[in-house]
Amino acid sequence: MSNSLRVKLVIIMLLIMALLMTVVLVFLIMGVQDFFTDQFYTQMRTVFENPEFVGELRTAAGMGTQSVERMETLLFAFLGELGIDRATRNFYIRDGTTGAVLVTSNPDEDAWGGVTRNVLNALLDQEPSAVRSRANYMDVAWLISSHDGDANYIVHIIDNKQTVQSLNAEIFTVILRAVLIGFAISVIISLIISKALISPIQGMTKAAEAMADGDFSRKIRVESADEVGVLAKTFNDMASQIETMLAELQRVESLRREFVANVSHELRTPLTNIRSYAETISDDKDIPADMQEEFLGIIISQCDRMTKIVQDLLELSRYDSGASVLALEEFSIEQAVRDVYAAIALEARKRSHVLNLELEWKLPSIRGDRAKIEQVLMNIIANALKYTPDGGTIAIYSGTSGGDVWVKIEDTGVGIPEEDLPRVFDRFYRVDKARSRESGGTGLGLSIAKEIITRHGGDITVESTPGIGTSVTVKLPFEGGAEEN
Ligand code: ADP
Repeated sequence: MSNSLRVKLVIIMLLIMALLMTVVLVFLIMGVQDFFTDQFYTQMRTVFENPEFVGELRTAAGMGTQSVERMETLLFAFLGELGIDRATRNFYIRDGTTGAVLVTSNPDEDAWGGVTRNVLNALLDQEPSAVRSRANYMDVAWLISSHDGDANYIVHIIDNKQTVQSLNAEIFTVILRAVLIGFAISVIISLIISKALISPIQGMTKAAEAMADGDFSRKIRVESADEVGVLAKTFNDMASQIETMLAELQRVESLRREFVANVSHELRTPLTNIRSYAETISDDKDIPADMQEEFLGIIISQCDRMTKIVQDLLELSRYDSGASVLALEEFSIEQAVRDVYAAIALEARKRSHVLNLELEWKLPSIRGDRAKIEQVLMNIIANALKYTPDGGTIAIYSGTSGGDVWVKIEDTGVGIPEEDLPRVFDRFYRVDKARSRESGGTGLGLSIAKEIITRHGGDITVESTPGIGTSVTVKLPFEGGAEEN
């Protein structure tokens, strides 16, 4: 591709050069010719419109038998003024009625005796004639009559344009030389230009080939700000975008795999348990009734666990697909917090936790799905209970800041290691799987909480120090909050 572009460029340059030079040549040659012709006619007019010179010629013409000789002498005396060199320019004295050559300055007498248009004009009109022509000669024919008008002669000056032609030939050679040098220069220039133009394109081709092989890290060096540079930059931007998109796709894909593996694993554990307890009851008929009762209890609780996982997954998938609709209503956040507190108080007391509630005076009401917000708070407090050894302290605070109302749940539990903090909202992510499962956790609670809060335009954050405790804060915007600020 690059070669053909290069060749095209060279050919275009050569054609432009040849065209330019041809135009220059034609104009120069025509210009030179016109210049010489003009000069010739001006020179002739100056001489033949000189009344003294013409007067002497006319006197000579009336000298009978000596007239031709006398005129010749006169013309020879004016050779310089007439520019007659006897090689390219000569004079002829012709008979005024027949046009026959009587005498000439041309040493080669037979060379030219023809009657030109100007001679004819002079003969017919009996007037001096100097018609320009594009023929290969230029001439003037001046009618000279004796003062009494009886004798007529024609002084005919003719130039064979040899000077012009040899000058034109010289110009032609010079131009030809210039064309040859110009060709060489234009080949070099077009090679340099094509290299500058083509190398970024070659770079782009290489990068595109690398991309086709799946390597998007390859970038083109942007060396200029012109169209090619802009193209290279756009190309690089596109490559980076594709690279980012691919990385994101890979991340999503690995999350999906992990998720499927997690779901399978989470469902397999209770299923295995159910199967082995059911098998034991079915195989061993002598199993004591109370043990049977216990096993059946385990089977039921495992079924409940599976149902809980499936319900949570269903809820998440409804959020993912956008099928879940929030039942929005105006409700008092204070009332919601108090209800959750009341619901959890008994469980807290059972585990001998101290459960504190501290609310700012007059909390605003918010617009949201009350049941879902309560579910979130419940989940967070349930986690605080689960991950705090018995006899701990769990505190619920609530207040406003700016346009947000916040609820913060603090515990004095096991805490979350710093490296696990960013992942606690991931589906099925659990810091301590055994402890979570033991206490009925699915690893989906915080993911669901985040979905619900985000959908309300709010935010949920976790801070924790292992061994000291954890605090989870939910922030929700309330109407008119921003104005109050
Ligand atoms: P789970 O059902 O396992 O509780 P969650 O999504 O609610 O799942 O929580 C994710 C993980 O975050 C938990 O498994 C636990 O390791 C950690 N975690 C959540 N809340 C707390 C807390 N208050 N104290 C310590 N760890 C917590």
